[in-house]
Amino acid sequence: MSDTTRITPERSGQGPAEGPRHPAGANGFDNRPGPPPGADAGAYAGPDTTAERLGDLIGVSPMRRLVALRWLLFAIAAMLAAAVVVHQVPAWHAVLAFLVVVVLGATLPQRRVTSLAVGRIQAGAAAWPDTGMKVAVDALAQPCFIVDRRGITRYVNQVAGRQFPAVRPGDPLSFGLRPPALLEALDRVAGGGPAERISWAEKVPTESWFEAYIAPVRLPAAQKPGHKGGGLRPDFVLVSVLDLTEQHRLERMRADFVANASHELRTPLASLTGFIETLQGAARDDPAARERFLAIMLEQASRMGRLIDDLLSLSRIELKVNVRPDARVELGEVVGNVVDALSPLARELEVELETDLPDEAMTVVGERDELVQVLGNLAENALKYGSSGGRVLISCEKRPVGQSGAEWRLSVRDWGAGIPAEHLPRLTERFYRVDATASRQMKGTGLGLAIVKHILNRHRARLEVQSAPGEGATFTVCIRAAEERGAAE
Ligand code: ADP
Repeated sequence: MSDTTRITPERSGQGPAEGPRHPAGANGFDNRPGPPPGADAGAYAGPDTTAERLGDLIGVSPMRRLVALRWLLFAIAAMLAAAVVVHQVPAWHAVLAFLVVVVLGATLPQRRVTSLAVGRIQAGAAAWPDTGMKVAVDALAQPCFIVDRRGITRYVNQVAGRQFPAVRPGDPLSFGLRPPALLEALDRVAGGGPAERISWAEKVPTESWFEAYIAPVRLPAAQKPGHKGGGLRPDFVLVSVLDLTEQHRLERMRADFVANASHELRTPLASLTGFIETLQGAARDDPAARERFLAIMLEQASRMGRLIDDLLSLSRIELKVNVRPDARVELGEVVGNVVDALSPLARELEVELETDLPDEAMTVVGERDELVQVLGNLAENALKYGSSGGRVLISCEKRPVGQSGAEWRLSVRDWGAGIPAEHLPRLTERFYRVDATASRQMKGTGLGLAIVKHILNRHRARLEVQSAPGEGATFTVCIRAAEERGAAE
C-alpha cells in the first residue's frame, strides 16, 4: 500500500488501480469489498482486505491455510522434485515428505501465515470503514464521506449520494469535490493533522457556499487486529459538508433590506433637514416660500410615515407567519370594503373601478384585516400603475382543487402599461420596483407586494401575476374555499 498522502487527482488516481472498484450495493452505495469476480475467495487478500476478512484469513480453515502457504508448498515441491532427479532420492519418499508437509501446513498453528496475513491487514486495515461507522454516518442529516488516508472515497452516506453524485466510492474524493482548500485540508488531516473546518464558494452552475468539517478517525486498537500502536496518521478521514447557500442568501437579503430601508428613510429625512435649514436661514422672512416648503415637508414626512407603517406591517406579519388564521371571512365583504376605500382615488385618477362577483357566498378561512390589506394593495397598484387603461376590474371565481376541495381566485385586472416579463419573478421582493420614480410619485414604498406575499404565505394562499407590456396586468389571489361546515383544515 502506498504511503502517499498528497491528495491530488493525478496521484490519488493510482488508488483505484491498487484496490478494486466494488459494485454499488442495493442502496446505491459501496458495500464491503469482495474478491474480484471469478477469484477464489480464500485466495483473495488484496490490499483492500478488511478487518472482517482478516478473521476469515487467519481462521482455522485448512484450505485457507494451504492457500496462504501455496508459494511455500510450491518451493518444497520443487526442491523434492530436484532431490528425486539430481540425488536419486526415491520418488515415493519425496511424495510422502510432501504429503507430510501439506498435512502439517493444514493443521498446525501457523505463526507465519497469521503474521503474513496480519501484515497485509495492517497495511490495509484502514481501507474500508466497518459497518458500525457506515450506519452512524448514514444516520447523519448532512452529506458525509469517509475517505482513507490516500484520499480514496470509502463510503458516501445517503444524503451525500443525492447531493454530490459525482463522488463515488472507490474514486479519489478529488474526482467529485475539487475545491483546493478542501483537498489541501484533507491532505493535512490525512497526514496526521488536527480536524479542520474550511469553507468555499462555487460560482457555477449557481452561486453556492459550502463549509466542510474534516476530522481524523482513529480506530480503537481493539478493532485493528495485530495493530501495535496508534500511529500519527488516522485510519480514515471523515469529511462532512454543509450547504450554506440558503443561509448566505438570507443574510444577504437581511443586509440588503437594512440598507434599502435606511436609504428609503434617509432621502426624505435629508429633504426635511434641508428645508428646515432653509426656513431658519434664507427663507426666514419669506411667507410664500415658507408655505411652499412646509407643504413639501409635510409630503416628505408622510412618505417616511408610510414607509415606517409598511415596515412595521411587514415585521408584524413575519412574526406570525406560522400562526394559521382561523376565522371565517366573506370575500364579498372584503371586496366591498376595498372598493369603498379606493373610490376617491379611482375618481381622482379617472379610472372606472368595477367588480364582477358570483352570487354565492365566497367564504375562506383567514384574517379579515389582512385580506383587506392584500386586496387593497393590489387594487391600489392597479389604479396607480394601470390608470392609463381607464378601468380596473375586481372579479372572483371558484375552481375545484383536488378531489373534493375548491379555491377562490380573486383577481384584480387593469388595462394599463403592463409589466415586462423579466420583472415578474421579482415583484414581491422588498423594495423592488419596475420604475422607482413612478413608484415614488405614486406614494409607493416598494413594500406593498412583499406584504401581500407574506400575508398570503400565512394564509397558505398564493399570488399569480400575468402581464405583458401594453396589455395591462392581472394579479390573482388563489385561496382555498372554506368547507361548508366548520373551518377548512
Ligand atoms: P409600490 O409601493 O412601489 O407600489 P409594490 O410592492 O406594491 O410597491 O409594487 C412593486 C412594483 O410593482 C411597483 O413599484 C410597480 O413598478 C409594479 N407594479 C405593481 N402593480 C402593478 C400594476 N398593476 N401594473 C404595473 N406595474 C405594477
